[in-house]
Amino acid sequence: MPDIEQKPEFTGFIGNFVLTPENYYSDEANKRFLSNSLFKSLYGYPAHPHPCQAAAVYGGKETTEALLVGSYMDAWFESTNAFEDFCREHENQIYTKSGKTKYKFIIDADNAINRVRKDKTFMRFMGGSHQTVLTGTIAGHPFKIKMDAYHPGEMIVDLKYVKSSMPVWNEVLKQRVSFIEDYGYTIQGAIYQEVEYQNSGKKLPFYIAYVTKDAEPDFGVVQIPQELLDEALEFVKINLTAKPYQSILMAPKACGRRSCPYCRKNKKLSGPMDWKTFTEYIAS
Ligand SMILES: [Zn+2]
Repeated sequence: MPDIEQKPEFTGFIGNFVLTPENYYSDEANKRFLSNSLFKSLYGYPAHPHPCQAAAVYGGKETTEALLVGSYMDAWFESTNAFEDFCREHENQIYTKSGKTKYKFIIDADNAINRVRKDKTFMRFMGGSHQTVLTGTIAGHPFKIKMDAYHPGEMIVDLKYVKSSMPVWNEVLKQRVSFIEDYGYTIQGAIYQEVEYQNSGKKLPFYIAYVTKDAEPDFGVVQIPQELLDEALEFVKINLTAKPYQSILMAPKACGRRSCPYCRKNKKLSGPMDWKTFTEYIAS
């Protein structure tokens, strides 16, 4: 574990701070509110328990191709203005150095957008208000949410641009699971539904509108069953109650796995490994 870092402080104190779509991802907002992604990176979820808390607390914000292209799509569905602004702000990540052509992963995203925009049902679900921000409290912790497509009084829809819609083998659950379980989208649905409910007084169905990165994209809209959302909300509450966010910040655990870039970056050998430790480590 690194020794120089300053622990970010979770104030849980909203004060005069007003959360907006613009400051949603700011350090200020993250100090005051937990979010779906922060929760999962600290507490894990059934398909991926035991995340690297140290990486989540000290690792800094990652900017991956997947995150960029996700925001690119969100902006397209939001409005022409939002999309133009996004493309201007991220010009160097969208266009190759010559400035004339887009990167391959952006061309693929355009292909996916062009496929689903022809589907009336998909587009109806992706209608409503875009990138609406709301706050609430779960197990005493302030939470923030940002909804891709919000239809007040009717439903909440989240857009997912996924590698494939094919089930994947999960080593923890010892079964093939959908991308929805693999990425913990039931947790996201539970948090979004609960926070929206605290604001409106009505529990809305939660849908995933997905499109895949296949050359010929697959796409669909699926409702996450209420019992899975209830189960996921229970999971969130139990974890936050057992270990409040503040107590994780006091001593975030490093996972020590070979597959963790943060832990590889900060590792320091204390001696050679015996054969058993080595075989376990390289499989971790
Ligand atoms: Zn780690």
